[in-house]
Amino acid sequence: MVRQARELGLTVKAIGAGHSFTAIAAAPGILIDLAGLDGLIAVDADKRRVTLAAGTNLYQLPALLQPHGLAMENLGDIDRQTIAGATSTGTHGTGGAFRGLSAQIVALRMVTAEGGILTVSETENAELLPAARLGLGALGILVEVTVQCVPAFVLHAVERPEPLEEVLGSFQTRVNTADHFEFYWFPHTDSVLTKTNTRLPADAPRQPLGRLSRWVDDELLANGVFAATCGTGRLLPAAIPGINRLATRLTGNREFTDISTSVFTTQRSVRFREMEYAIPREQVPDAVRDIRTLIADRGWRISFPIEVRAAAADELWMSTAYGRESGYIAVHRYWRENHLEYFRAVEGILRGYGGRPHWGKIHFQDAASLAPLYPRFHEFTAARDRLDPDRLFTNPYLDRVLGA
Ligand SMILES: Cc1cc2nc3c(=O)[nH]c(=O)nc-3n(C[C@H](O)[C@H](O)[C@H](O)COP(=O)(O)OP(=O)(O)OC[C@H]3O[C@@H](n4cnc5c(N)ncnc54)[C@H](O)[C@@H]3O)c2cc1C
Repeated sequence: MVRQARELGLTVKAIGAGHSFTAIAAAPGILIDLAGLDGLIAVDADKRRVTLAAGTNLYQLPALLQPHGLAMENLGDIDRQTIAGATSTGTHGTGGAFRGLSAQIVALRMVTAEGGILTVSETENAELLPAARLGLGALGILVEVTVQCVPAFVLHAVERPEPLEEVLGSFQTRVNTADHFEFYWFPHTDSVLTKTNTRLPADAPRQPLGRLSRWVDDELLANGVFAATCGTGRLLPAAIPGINRLATRLTGNREFTDISTSVFTTQRSVRFREMEYAIPREQVPDAVRDIRTLIADRGWRISFPIEVRAAAADELWMSTAYGRESGYIAVHRYWRENHLEYFRAVEGILRGYGGRPHWGKIHFQDAASLAPLYPRFHEFTAARDRLDPDRLFTNPYLDRVLGA
C-alpha cells in the first residue's frame, strides 16, 4: 500500500483506535486501519519483554500477558487505544517514578516510506530509538512493538474526597511518597477527589469492587449521572456549581485491591474534548490556582473536573516529559459545549509555566512555538527528513506541529 500510494502521489496514515482528540490521525490520502494486525508475536521470558502486533488494543493485554505472569508497568485512564497509537502520541498514566507508555517500548519494526522494513532496537538503528518510540506517526508505519513488561502486580486503591488547598499544599510529597497519585478538582468547589494507588505483589490478597458497586460508582455515578449533569449544565449553566458540589459528595470514598489493569483503567462513556499540558512538577499547585482564578474571573461554568497527574522524566525527544519531572494538568469540556475560549485561556496559563501539550489532545501550538520547548526538536525533524523526505506520512496536523 505504501509503494502504491507513492506511485499515486497520495499520503498514507496508519490509525489506531481513533481516540486522539487532535487531527493527528486524520488521513487525507490513504487510511490504513491496523485493527486486524493484533496479538502477541513473541515473548522473551528472561527479559520480561513481549512483542505485540501494532494494532493490539490495550484492553487485549491482560489476557495476552497474564499467562506469562507479566503486566504493563503503568497505564493511562482507559484501555481502548492501540499500543502503536498510544506510544505514537506519548500516552501516559500517573506516578512520580513512572514514565509514559512510550518509554516502556524497547524495540519496534516499521514500514518505511520506501516500502521496506526497518527494525529499531538497542542493537539495530539504535540512534532512532528516542525518536521512533514516540514518533507521532510521522516516521513510518509501526507493525510490531516490543514492550518491556514487569511481573504482574496488584494495586491497592484509595479514593477520597479532600480539600483542594490541602492537596495542592502537599502535592509534591504525595507524588513522591505514593506509587501512583492523581486528583480531580471539580471547578466551583473547594474539593478534590484523590486517587492513591500502591503496588503490591501479584499474590497479595485482592478485594475487588463488587460488580454492583463498580457499576454504581463507575457507570451510574461517574458516567451516567455525569452525562445527565453535563446535559443539564449545558442548558442551565447556573446549576453547575451546585451539581459539582454534589458530585464531590457522591463520588470517591472507597478502597479496593485488584489486578493492575482493572485499577488503572476505567470506562469513559461521556463524550468530551480534552486538552492536557505537562509542566515542571513543582509548578502544578500554582498553575491549578491560576486556572481556578481564571474560571472565577471569567464567570464560566465548567462541569468537567480538572485532572492532575505526574510522571517521571524520560529521554524521548518528543516526549512531554523530556528531561524533566512532570506534572500533567488536563481540562475537559462536554462535547456539546464550546471548548475554544476555555482551552485557549488555560493554554495561555500553562504555556507560561513552560507547558508542553499532549500530542493527541487539543492545543493551538505550531512548529514555531513548540520547537523551543523540546531541546531535541530539530533532531526529531532531521530523523523525519531522513526517513520520510517526501512526507508520505504527513497530514495537516503534522505539517502544523512539525513543519511541512
Ligand atoms: C477517553 C479518552 C481517555 C484518554 N486517556 C488518556 C490518558 O489517560 N493518558 C494519555 O496520555 N492519553 C489519553 N488519551 C489520549 C490517547 O491515549 C491518545 O490520543 C492515543 O494516541 C490514542 O490511541 P489510538 O490507538 O486511538 O491512536 P489514534 O488516535 O488512532 O492515532 C494516534 C497517532 O498514532 C499514529 N498511529 C497509530 N497507529 C500507528 C501505526 N501502526 N504506525 C504509526 N503510527 C500509528 C497515528 O497515525 C496518529 O499519529 C485519552 C483519549 C480518550 C479519548
